[in-house]
Amino acid sequence: MTLFDKFHPLAVAREEMTAQCPDFFHITMEEILSPTEALIKGRPTLLAGTNNYLGLTFHPDCIAAACEATEKEGTGTTGSRMANGTYAGHLALEQELSTFFGRKRTIVFSTGYLANLALLSTLTGQDDVILLDADCHASIYDGCRMGSAEVIRFRHNDVADLEKRLRRLGGRKANVLIVVEGIYSMLGDQAPLKEIAALKQQYGAWLAVDEAHSLGVLGEHGRGLAEACGVEGEVDFVIGTFSKSLGAIGGFCSSNHDGLDFLRYASRPYIFTASLSPATIASTRAALRVLAAEPFRRTLLWQHARLLYAKLKAMGYKVGPEAGPVIAVRAGKPADAFRLWQGLLDQGVYVNMVLPPATPDGGALLRCSLSAAHSTEQVEAIATAFAARKGLIP
Ligand code: PMP
Repeated sequence: MTLFDKFHPLAVAREEMTAQCPDFFHITMEEILSPTEALIKGRPTLLAGTNNYLGLTFHPDCIAAACEATEKEGTGTTGSRMANGTYAGHLALEQELSTFFGRKRTIVFSTGYLANLALLSTLTGQDDVILLDADCHASIYDGCRMGSAEVIRFRHNDVADLEKRLRRLGGRKANVLIVVEGIYSMLGDQAPLKEIAALKQQYGAWLAVDEAHSLGVLGEHGRGLAEACGVEGEVDFVIGTFSKSLGAIGGFCSSNHDGLDFLRYASRPYIFTASLSPATIASTRAALRVLAAEPFRRTLLWQHARLLYAKLKAMGYKVGPEAGPVIAVRAGKPADAFRLWQGLLDQGVYVNMVLPPATPDGGALLRCSLSAAHSTEQVEAIATAFAARKGLIP
């Protein structure tokens, strides 16, 4: 027996996959040509599988800010804020996010994953309950696992099921924290947040919304689903990431509760990891300004999303429940997904392939995502590639 023997089933699965889908484990973006194109296997390939919703990764303001910060402050902070010190930029970004969300406090983390880990593992204790949507991201599940609260899942986007569970809890537990996402990353659908916020109020629970995929995408000012639904006042904690619409890396949590600050002293994912680099802080601050100043990006993104969703649906693909920047194509069995994914790549289009058990309903998915940086011609080209490969799945 070696330490690696337990991976045998994985090795077999990888071999089977490679036989059917030779490129899957060998995708390298050899050169990044633009926010929407990369050189893959020496060939310019259209990217329809990023989370670059606003297309800001090459925005001149973001690049200039990152370069200037690197020159002035160096390439990295080399440690955590608790042990090695906070840079002025960290505080400025926290202040700017608080202003953007109209909240009193914000803490910035080194990734969105860590933001969820920090909030969920630290905020709740063994007398508390976390009620989470079953389709929540792995970082939310992992945060729950790291903490000591009782964790109860409710059926995805099922308000009646959530209410049933709230009712059953009665007064048994001290605090109940409901956790949902703005836009779900796999199927691209939105939480019924108005109804969830009403239940939160009715049952005296707390509400955390992970706006990772909805920041910059939903709401008149791009603040996410809570803004779009007019329920920001009911959301106790907004969580998000800098790695999608803001085109960098990092995460945050904003709140009106003064107690949020205790996470700085109590949360291991804040204390025991290095803080964001000056370049990342600076480009994220610039991206936040661009998000506010260039709302046309959101409009463009939605035009692309509606166009591709309608086209795929008309072709007979089984798409997710609603149009949005994440468009899931249900591919059925993994073998069908492998064929379609490889077929699209051969057509010069890269999408994400998601296999069970990571998918919400046990089937394989091809996940397409759009960017404001796509041109209409590129969106048409993605649709054309899907049309050309329609015969590959039943
Ligand atoms: N929450 C959700 C809903 C996500 O989809 C993701 C990333 N896919 C994260 C959190 C983690 O974000 P990050 O990449 O910043 O760690």
